[in-house]
Amino acid sequence: MTDFNTKLVHGIPVGDNQTGAVVPPIYQSTTFAYPQADAKVRWDYTRSGNPTREYLEKEIAYLEDGDAGFAFSSGLAAISTVFSIFDRDDHIIIGDSVYGGTYRLLNDYFTKHGLSFTTVDTRDLDAIKGAIQPNTRAIYFETLSNPLLKVTSVKKVSALAKEHGLLTIVDNTFLTPYLQQPLNLGADIVIHSATKYLGGHSDVLAGLVVTRTPALSQQVGYLQNALGPTLAPEAANLVRRGIETLSLRMDREQQNALAIAEHLEASPLVSSVHYPGLKQDPNYQIAQEELNGAGGVLSFELADNVDADRFVNQLKLFTLAVSLGSVASLAELPWTMTHAELPVSARKASGLSPQLIRLAIGVESVRDLIEDLDQALAQMG
Ligand SMILES: *Cc1c(COP(=O)(O)O)cnc(C)c1O
Repeated sequence: MTDFNTKLVHGIPVGDNQTGAVVPPIYQSTTFAYPQADAKVRWDYTRSGNPTREYLEKEIAYLEDGDAGFAFSSGLAAISTVFSIFDRDDHIIIGDSVYGGTYRLLNDYFTKHGLSFTTVDTRDLDAIKGAIQPNTRAIYFETLSNPLLKVTSVKKVSALAKEHGLLTIVDNTFLTPYLQQPLNLGADIVIHSATKYLGGHSDVLAGLVVTRTPALSQQVGYLQNALGPTLAPEAANLVRRGIETLSLRMDREQQNALAIAEHLEASPLVSSVHYPGLKQDPNYQIAQEELNGAGGVLSFELADNVDADRFVNQLKLFTLAVSLGSVASLAELPWTMTHAELPVSARKASGLSPQLIRLAIGVESVRDLIEDLDQALAQMG
């Protein structure tokens, strides 16, 4: 059994290589020649299959320990393809603090096409049970919620889902297979916005899906080709390259995140810190049990007398920007930036406030990151 860190670098063998090149080639070709009219060809057209994209698809299936992987042009392209496996009148239970774009896709778009959704706190098994209807087909959630970093047990939810014949679908963007492999805990489908940690450098938009069973692989594979939101070969290569350094980046990012969370906890201008790596965090125990690390994102509320806009405007090293998972640290205001798609009532219901700041920690020196936060806080007095 090869260690995970070795798998990241060596991945699957480069099978198509007469040159000795040590990385897989980028095949830009959209079409592939038939040797003769009746030939059964492995490749015919890039939407249906492309060797560069397939390398990444096999790699993510290997890392997530699944049956097959699929690469898409964005995380939302991956999510919309997965939800397309359902039929009119199907009902799906979703986590109460899923990514804003997912919330919009499901509640604005898929409801128009006959799906219905019930939103629950997926940490509460009784709430999930109470939401199950005769037409419920699946439970969908993010293990680590955004931006409050609440941890849902994939093990417990997928066991409950199995009892009721439901699929468990996990958006594993915030953790990556380095920190959790949901299929090994009982989930059926794993989704990534590879735009974040897997790409790792804020320079490629991509989505990935991994399925546990051949039947699900067949369904997702069919839709990937039928709907067509596939990942371009150059972008697939960038994600492949990002994955090689995933554990190195993640190790530094979560080490930095913990030090920053502890530092912010001690500030009188900060009223609360959310990071499941903190011993006093309510999600600490479950994070210890099911995650291999708490990840690189944390959030905190500024005290009521601190102007949150002024605070983020003072940051110099942290860029004020949405997204996460890059080598460079980012700060954002969920209320007006990432979660603006949610109606105010939904934002309040999921515990958000205008005082909340989300930090996506990068690989910089933690001393410089803390100094930047401190100089901004110092100007808030
Ligand atoms: C960013 C993100 C998405 C959407 O991915 P895109 O690549 O931006 O389409 C979905 N889920 C989570 C948790 C995300 O952070």
